[in-house]
Amino acid sequence: QLSKRLKSITYYLPERALFADIGSDHAYLPCYVCLNDSEASAIAGEINKGPYLRAYEQVQKWNLLERIGVRQGDGLSVIEPNEVEQVVIAGMGGTLITNILENGKEKLAGVKRIIVQPNINARYVRKWLNKHSFSLSREQVIEEDGRYYEIIVADYNPSQPLMEYTEKEYYLGPINGKEKSQAFIQKWSGILQKNERIIKEMKKASQPDEQKIAEFEQQMDWIKEALK
Ligand code: SAM
Repeated sequence: QLSKRLKSITYYLPERALFADIGSDHAYLPCYVCLNDSEASAIAGEINKGPYLRAYEQVQKWNLLERIGVRQGDGLSVIEPNEVEQVVIAGMGGTLITNILENGKEKLAGVKRIIVQPNINARYVRKWLNKHSFSLSREQVIEEDGRYYEIIVADYNPSQPLMEYTEKEYYLGPINGKEKSQAFIQKWSGILQKNERIIKEMKKASQPDEQKIAEFEQQMDWIKEALK
């Protein structure tokens, strides 16, 4: 049984997907997609030996070694240019996802769609995607077991002029901020409450970090505006 989080990501892959799942861990996602679509194929990339071996065992267990290449390596180094059409990077921080994209950008030749699920700092990934002509086309916040996850889908669109998003839009997500789904509202209400407590503590410090406090207050204003 695939988690709701990973299943939600699979909805953004087309039929007959030809994709890489970077940081695949158990390779649950590529196995699920390939078991449900006999014409899909994938590469499961993993930097660490333990998860790489787990991925390999999982793929072998389902008899999918012919359609899922399990490769050990850092980020996009496991794929060749024009080898895949979609890239999934899920379950990591936004800074790491951004570094993986930046360090491997020449491997993105032929990639039409990037689907990311950053656990934190989604804004850095949005900025990178927009700057590199991957237009933000779908965003979704999902809730699973009391935790909130953001999924961002971006499509390669070099002919379209780059969007000029505001910092607020990068922070909350330009599409999320318009759609204001139930999960979006719940996620940011929770963060607002948590940040209010953090700011109180920060202000009590003997030498408060004024710059950090100002940054937090700005973000809280954005959240409040979005929740209105
Ligand atoms: N993608 C799966 C998911 O969403 O459930 C697994 C997420 S798991 C928390 C993150 C995985 O990314 C770990 O297995 C870790 O070894 C792998 N990882 C971290 N940095 C990586 C990198 N630079 N290249 C490839 N894999 C990486």
